[in-house]
Amino acid sequence: MKRSFKYRFYPSPQQAEQLNRTFGCVRLVYNRALEARSRKWKVDRHRSSYAQTSAWLTEWKRTDDLAFLNEVSAVPLQQTLRHLQAAFAGFWERRCGYPRYKSKRRSRASAEYTRSAFRWRDGHLTLAKMDAPLDIVWSRPLPTDVEPSTVTVSRDAAGRWYVSLLVEDPTVQALPALDRVVGVDAGITSLVTLSTGEKIANPRHEQADRRKLAKAQRNLSRKEKGSANRAKAQARVGRIHARVADRRRDHLHKLSTRLVRENQAVIIEDLSVRNLLRNHRMARVISDAAWSELRRMLEYKAVWYGRAVIVVDRWFPSSKTCSTCGRINPSMPLTVREWVCPACHTEHDRDVNAAQNILAAGLAERRNACGADVRPHGIPSLRGSRQ
Ligand SMILES: [Zn+2]
Repeated sequence: MKRSFKYRFYPSPQQAEQLNRTFGCVRLVYNRALEARSRKWKVDRHRSSYAQTSAWLTEWKRTDDLAFLNEVSAVPLQQTLRHLQAAFAGFWERRCGYPRYKSKRRSRASAEYTRSAFRWRDGHLTLAKMDAPLDIVWSRPLPTDVEPSTVTVSRDAAGRWYVSLLVEDPTVQALPALDRVVGVDAGITSLVTLSTGEKIANPRHEQADRRKLAKAQRNLSRKEKGSANRAKAQARVGRIHARVADRRRDHLHKLSTRLVRENQAVIIEDLSVRNLLRNHRMARVISDAAWSELRRMLEYKAVWYGRAVIVVDRWFPSSKTCSTCGRINPSMPLTVREWVCPACHTEHDRDVNAAQNILAAGLAERRNACGADVRPHGIPSLRGSRQ
């Protein structure tokens, strides 16, 4: 099973300089290629291929004003074109929105190196264009006798450096099969709501951290451009951002591990479809970014443990439909938290009802797709339960 291990490292000044330059070139190549592809897409719906963008990169490197691209390793530049290709594939398959430009301030600075662009010897990692290995803090053990196949270097908003190693991990094994299946709704008042009736809140301190962040941002906006105080305020904003992101990721890791371990299948809704079909954006506690991170975690952990993630991608009115009798209510304003079905008189919690509808839709989809291999009995709370 492929698995990535992430560690902090401390670059030498020369390494930091080389990596910062690489991040800049990666961003530039990504944005240039996105611009060129967008022209072709918008003018005649032409779907550029990775090979075409790679040929553009070769041409750019021959021009005088982009010759500096030759000073960094070519591999991260090609990898970013592959990521752009994947972003377009997601867009064409309607899984994600149109690819966006990488911003210097808002996007994560990162560069991906494949096997030909680094040396791995006795636990020492040396990247292309560098002569010394990275000073990595081995905060948890890497499985023994493994060789990374891909290495990703990044720098977060707080200026911390990370290296992520993708390795084949022999210790990950499938868990025994279970009967339980759960539906997950992106909640309005809680982070997510489960079809069992359980609501999972945001990580603790998130509210307090957000307030601190807002305060630090106000403070930053008052500082004079280019001043030392502004740089200090900027660093503080970056540190708080990083803390919020760390806590959220940690929370999502715990949640995704738990959902995958406790259930044979986890059924979720494809929110990008929902957003496409809605005029207004849903007021949800979970942001699109956190939701796609959760989905990604669920998907790769499901592969590790022999579980399934079922994505309900056909839009249906999960909030308006009674999960007991199937009646669809004409309207369900966001302020309505609880309601009684006029047809069958079941009392519903809005989010729990939606999660139960997602569960039922996922099971139906799965039965249609591959025969009855997920049994609806043995699922504790398909209807009306308020545990
Ligand atoms: Zn009903």
